[in-house]
Amino acid sequence: MQELTTMEKIVALCKRRGFIYQGSEIYGGMAGMYDFGPYGVELLNNLKAAWWKEHVQIRENYFGLDSAMFKDPRVWEASGHTSGFSDPLSECKKCNTRIRVDKELENVGVVADEKMSEVELGALFTEHKAKIHCPKCGTNEFTPVRAFNLLVKTNMGDFTGENQVPVYLPGEACQGIYLNFKNVIDTTRAKVPFGIAQIGKAFRNEISPRNFLFRTRELEQADTQFFVRPHENKDAYERIKRERFQWYRNMGIREDNLRWKQHANLVFYASDAWDIEYNFPTLGFDELEGIHDRTDYDLTQHGKYSGVDLSYTDPHTGEKYVPWILETSVGLGRMFLAFLSDAYTEDKLGGETRTVLRLAPSLAPIKVAVFPLLKNKPELVSKAKEIYKTLQPIFMTEFDDNGNVGKRYRRQDEIGTPYCVTVDFESLEDGTVTIRDRDTGSQERVKIDKLTAVLLDKLKS
Ligand code: ATP
Repeated sequence: MQELTTMEKIVALCKRRGFIYQGSEIYGGMAGMYDFGPYGVELLNNLKAAWWKEHVQIRENYFGLDSAMFKDPRVWEASGHTSGFSDPLSECKKCNTRIRVDKELENVGVVADEKMSEVELGALFTEHKAKIHCPKCGTNEFTPVRAFNLLVKTNMGDFTGENQVPVYLPGEACQGIYLNFKNVIDTTRAKVPFGIAQIGKAFRNEISPRNFLFRTRELEQADTQFFVRPHENKDAYERIKRERFQWYRNMGIREDNLRWKQHANLVFYASDAWDIEYNFPTLGFDELEGIHDRTDYDLTQHGKYSGVDLSYTDPHTGEKYVPWILETSVGLGRMFLAFLSDAYTEDKLGGETRTVLRLAPSLAPIKVAVFPLLKNKPELVSKAKEIYKTLQPIFMTEFDDNGNVGKRYRRQDEIGTPYCVTVDFESLEDGTVTIRDRDTGSQERVKIDKLTAVLLDKLKS
């Protein structure tokens, strides 16, 4: 049998252990859609909480927001999405499979300029077409390149269908931040420079969703927009870049799996753009997070289209200006995949090969698992249940009495549980239990009445 790639193993683990399920699976599955299962939603929530703590809780000049997904359709005109949010599409003439031309060119070592017109990209595609094959049927006969808009359109309001108002699902989450720039200033003590942070859903009609959570059609983005005085962007931009990279390191991502990439071709309004890339299994280094210096484009556009003055008046100097914006934007699915890939390890413990997720304790879906040594000894089971009930309000805790203890350890290793507590016969005599460490497999005995404090201490470090 052929050895599975690491990506295939991660996808299989996600399914087997209830992290990620294919969207609409019982109907045959829907491309680019995934559902987060019981452990997946815990990891996702922990990632969001860690990100929120970093960008809102421990800051003095960042403010949180959660804006409505449906927005006035003019928002997407002002932002440039209705006219310019598109990817170059071509179709296989034989089997009609759609390909995203710039990505297929990239796969054969040709980087297309982001500013290229359809015609220019078409010419580049024709030049290199001999090297590009349909991912499904392998032929290389393709239709001419055309721009394909990624916005997802729907209707709202009138259900008779006669006066339906077309609205768009958000193509990116950050627009809600620009719309509330003035509200946040008017209702808080925000003074430029300051930031707004938001986690929100986005929807994109991706031409070819692929690589598991890396490219999906429904995604969630964690964004910050930092507002600065025009031209006072450089120091803040460097700080933000430094902090974002360090955050991944602090959360446990290995340094050699992260790197920077500067955009060679900027969109017309941007002054600088960098990506933090992660070394995704199978895919290699690819974009994890974008950090963009967007100048005054967003507030100027929304000011123009809404007719509302979105300039800022400095309360000390009286100076009036439209702030420049420094943005960070990361897809939580990509973040999830990066953390999962980085934590995924196969090692040997006690002579046995095992799979273990070496997640930082703060990210682990379950912090503590409690086991009775034997399922058929009621006194062990009831003691273990009692301990489980004590820990449950403090930590995400799981009780397990299925199979032998070794098998239960393996299961917890696979979902990344940092500590397992086992109640054995000694526990009934001297009021102690064992705590087993996920990473080393080492065990120590602690008094039951000290258990919570010991676990709190261990999980903190
Ligand atoms: P790409 O070039 O890969 O299509 P992008 O440059 O269009 O991505 P942005 O619009 O800058 O991406 O979005 C910010 C972040 O949102 C990305 O860094 C990525 O983490 C995430 N993201 C974008 N598109 C997707 C998607 N289809 N699926 C999952 N995450 C995505």
